Amino acid sequence: MLNILRNIIQEVSSARNLDQALGLIVQRVKQALSVTVCSVYLVDEESGDLVLMASDGLLSTAVGEVRMRFDQGLVGLVAQRAEPINLDNAPEHPRYQYFSETGEEQFHAFLGVPIIHNRQLLGVLVLQQTDACRYGEDTVTFMITIAAQLAGAIAHARVIGDIGTLANQGHEGEQQLKGLPGAPGIGIGQAVVLDVETGIEEIPDRTIQDTEQENDRFLQAVVAVKQDIQRMVGNMADVLPAEELALFDAYIMMLDSDSLIGVISKHILSGNWAPGAVREVIMAHVQVFSGMDDPYLRERAEDVRDLGRRILKQLQQSQQQVMRYPKKTILVGEDISASMLAEVPARQLVGVVSRRGSRTSHTAILASALGVPAVLGVEDLPVAAMAELDVIVDGYSGFVYLNASRAVSREYRRLQKQEQLLSADLKEIRDLEAITTDGYHISLYANTGLLSDIKPSLDSGAEGVGLYRTEFPFMVRKQFPGEQEQYDIYRQVLSDFAPRPVTMRTLDIGGDKALPYFPIKEDNPFLGWRGIRITLDHPEIFLVQIRAMLRANAGLNNLQLLLPMISTLSELDEAIALIHRAYDELREEGNDICLPPIGAMVEVPSLVYQVDALVKRVDFISIGSNDLTQYLLAVDRNNPQVASLYDSLHPAVIQAVSRVVAAARQQRIPVSVCGEMAGDPVAALMLLGMGVTSLSMSASSLPRIKKVIREFSRRRSKSLLKKVMEMEAPQAIRQHLNAVLEKAGLGGLIRAGN
Ligand code: PEP
Ligand code: MG
Repeated sequence: MLNILRNIIQEVSSARNLDQALGLIVQRVKQALSVTVCSVYLVDEESGDLVLMASDGLLSTAVGEVRMRFDQGLVGLVAQRAEPINLDNAPEHPRYQYFSETGEEQFHAFLGVPIIHNRQLLGVLVLQQTDACRYGEDTVTFMITIAAQLAGAIAHARVIGDIGTLANQGHEGEQQLKGLPGAPGIGIGQAVVLDVETGIEEIPDRTIQDTEQENDRFLQAVVAVKQDIQRMVGNMADVLPAEELALFDAYIMMLDSDSLIGVISKHILSGNWAPGAVREVIMAHVQVFSGMDDPYLRERAEDVRDLGRRILKQLQQSQQQVMRYPKKTILVGEDISASMLAEVPARQLVGVVSRRGSRTSHTAILASALGVPAVLGVEDLPVAAMAELDVIVDGYSGFVYLNASRAVSREYRRLQKQEQLLSADLKEIRDLEAITTDGYHISLYANTGLLSDIKPSLDSGAEGVGLYRTEFPFMVRKQFPGEQEQYDIYRQVLSDFAPRPVTMRTLDIGGDKALPYFPIKEDNPFLGWRGIRITLDHPEIFLVQIRAMLRANAGLNNLQLLLPMISTLSELDEAIALIHRAYDELREEGNDICLPPIGAMVEVPSLVYQVDALVKRVDFISIGSNDLTQYLLAVDRNNPQVASLYDSLHPAVIQAVSRVVAAARQQRIPVSVCGEMAGDPVAALMLLGMGVTSLSMSASSLPRIKKVIREFSRRRSKSLLKKVMEMEAPQAIRQHLNAVLEKAGLGGLIRAGN
């Protein structure tokens, strides 16, 4: 059963459109379970009716014709109850209704299971049988499993299907998708799907003009792959037994075969670009092999796929030099990495959309740093079908529009204009102090990590850097940077901001920040080897970094050191001891340096409970609300599936932050918040009420936060905090605070428009 299930899911997930996907489902399920009929009914989003969308067994003329409301028939009953119904003699059931278009009178046994995605009923999957027999428990559980697995694929295929139709209609019609707001702003541009790092299934189709030239490019790639394989065979001939080497012969044979290479060429010559043609033909072969009963042959599917990957890699290498970005590029992908962002010329990047990631993932943080609107975690994003489509990214609400209608485009252009006016308005307060109407000053700092975001940070009017994430320079290199290389980077940042303070955080890799040259394989990376845990285990890496920082600070003295991911006080003690050691050694070597203030990040809940001991050991505290929220609520900050549960305005987070702020204030040491919470206008209002010393955020958020602070009094923020502390639901808290901002005429800071 498991194999059958796996095969069906694999086939469906590589279907090119919804019709094909549904056709495959009913055929394969009917075949696998030897039933008379398998059908899928889907909810029509407009009318709310259930519509027969595919059937193997009912009259084909009934597809698209048979419709029912939820209060009609047995299929309607399954939808109404959202639970399976299993009957041996359906016509005897009081809810039975005969639909003459289907020709179903001869059927007795009936099993209907709901198809549900993200709590929403998408449709009903139905089995029918001529005999009056009851389906066994095995069949019922199989159908429930398949419906659950297929729900996501159907939701996704529905979007792809729609997009396919849109494309055929010459880009008319509109598609609205919902994801998670990643970075604020509105981006209007053209989609570029970066194929590098994309799975073979995700390669889009693309029309090309010069088919002969494209076919030559493809044939050259095939030759290169062949040479690669022959070289591998040469290297392995003495090491591998003959039967293993035979696999490579099979590869070479495939590369010579007309049924594979010849067919791909045909697709290219009829107008698809080479990667799209490779995907189409390779995936068709993969499906044939995957569907075979013989396990040996089934495994060959992986070989074909591997071969496809090799050809694509060659093609991508020849493609990369000719990658052209439109003037207004919206980068689209499964996952957008730092290096992908860096590939687009900065002025041309106007938006980012990805299927994975969320508000506090590092892609979002980078996009924010660059001031580029982003929507992440768009689960139904039809990546493969999006190349060159017109896209609107609403980084406030998380909506993404593909091929937006004229009315929507016009509206968004209007909102974009208003946004530009707002930015101009905010620029006017750039050099003014972040001070409340009753005179309370709060320092606003920028979060940085890229050398390229120093200028925006300076331009934003930041009073310094509250969080310099040192891992970014590590991420974009091929090996650990040495002491001198690090010194050069840190020196530039420190001198660009001097005399303003710069808080540099020691290396915080692990979690979702991997170094290509230092791979870490773990089941639970966010609960694993991360941040200070790695650097304490590798003092050589830690000490080199500290030495580079202390030396870079010589004569400037604006450095502050920040330690990430502390969960136990002894880690802090050890790290401080190492910092002192580096300092002593540098002094002994004759460097005229001073010991900078040392702070700890509070981002693991254990420290909230040990905060009284913590504040006695450090010179300042910085609250990492991104991780603190993730760990307090047990919600992965990058997982779109649970993103609705992730909220830094959760009462537990507000209480934890407020407790830490109170302890720091009592000890009279500065306390800052440097997670995304600090750049959220409504959360900032709460933090002001608590009495944080400073807030650190992406440069693009800074003017908005300054505006909020200058429009409110500390007294008002305290009373708002008191009221919020009595509330129990994060949504209610957000609604309440949003309303407060709207009333103060500051709605434009939290949504598109003014
Ligand atoms: C945080 O966790 O809030 C934080 C600022 O660190 P990072 O986002 O880099 O994990
Ligand atoms: Mg963190």
